[in-house]
Amino acid sequence: MQEFGETIFAEMSALAVRTGAINLGQGFPDVAGPGAMLEVAVEAIRSGEDQYPPGPGLPELREAVAAQRLQRYGLEYDPAAEVFVTVGATEGVAASVLALAGPGDEVIVFEPYYDSYAAVIALAGAVRRTVTLRPVEGRFTFDPDELRAAVGPRTRLILVNSPHNPAGAVFTREELGTIADVCREHDLIAVTDEVYEYLTFDGTEHIPLATLDGMRERTVSVSSAGKTFSVTGWKTGWVTAPARYVRAVQTVKQFLTYAVNAPYQRAAAYALGNELAWVEELRTSLQGKRDRLISGLEAAGFTAYRPQGTYFVQADIRPLGFSDGMDLARALPDKAGVVAIPTQVFYDHAEAGAHFVRFAFCKKDEVIDEAVARLARLG
Ligand code: PMP
Ligand code: GLN
Repeated sequence: MQEFGETIFAEMSALAVRTGAINLGQGFPDVAGPGAMLEVAVEAIRSGEDQYPPGPGLPELREAVAAQRLQRYGLEYDPAAEVFVTVGATEGVAASVLALAGPGDEVIVFEPYYDSYAAVIALAGAVRRTVTLRPVEGRFTFDPDELRAAVGPRTRLILVNSPHNPAGAVFTREELGTIADVCREHDLIAVTDEVYEYLTFDGTEHIPLATLDGMRERTVSVSSAGKTFSVTGWKTGWVTAPARYVRAVQTVKQFLTYAVNAPYQRAAAYALGNELAWVEELRTSLQGKRDRLISGLEAAGFTAYRPQGTYFVQADIRPLGFSDGMDLARALPDKAGVVAIPTQVFYDHAEAGAHFVRFAFCKKDEVIDEAVARLARLG
């Protein structure tokens, strides 16, 4: 694991703390989640919910997740056998990759990829193959031929993150159809990371890959409470999949952490059942923040890509005369008092992403305004 070192999120958040710069790097909201949900967690602690919960998760949360998948997407999962709870989506993805890919197997990821994917593929002893997302008419997408060319005899899994961090793309039915075709033709399993499932804009619909023809049977879907309810520190996630995959993934998960903290499971179950109106307000407010950040970045001279989902904007730094996002991100606190994430660390083909930095907009309006005012001095 030596090549992995410290994550870019830890490095850039530490830089923000050290310099006092505005942190638009690591994605975490600066306002609290729904009050009643927080009270459920407090009450669970007060009432002594302190011991190990069941390994697969509290039945209440597994039932709430099954109900959510059914109501929102028409996907049916048996809460007893096809849903289980993980320490955030991060553990859900990790346990899935460790369970389903072995040494020498190949795993396809779309780059830029979320950093933990590369690390966990390495932990599994597997090999990652990347398919590059590139901007076409303002939106990041992939070339279907590149995806087909990435498949080989050892390919086992494809990791699909939509809405996509950091590119902001929400895969269309057509794009998902291409992925589904490849999975069916080559007998691949898909692991989907849907943590931004509610955070889509301008009426863009999040379509779970599992809803496509023949895909429920070969898809392991992962999501979590962190983004949906603005509690990224709770690390409470879940996996839904056919029972045989759930058994495999759970066999791994039980030796990573055995179980997931009980009070937050209780609260996440409550929130899934009762706080979706709150989430809709969050979504609307984030759409405004997205537009606010983009106007500011454009005024400051960046080329900004308007995301269809997530709370991140990709900004091209070349119009400002910079070429290396890593150099700029490390210098940005001094130059402008702002922290961003250099997107190139999420690429194998670094040249495809060298000129992007990622800004988060899950922040109070006044924080975004101050950050873009500072960035305007860059030019
Ligand atoms: N996947 C993606 C794409 C993410 O952006 C994040 C970060 N929040 C996670 C997974 C991690 O989710 P969790 O905190 O639930 O582990
Ligand atoms: N998902 C968050 C982001 O992309 C970071 C999570 C982390 O720090 N690992 O900013």
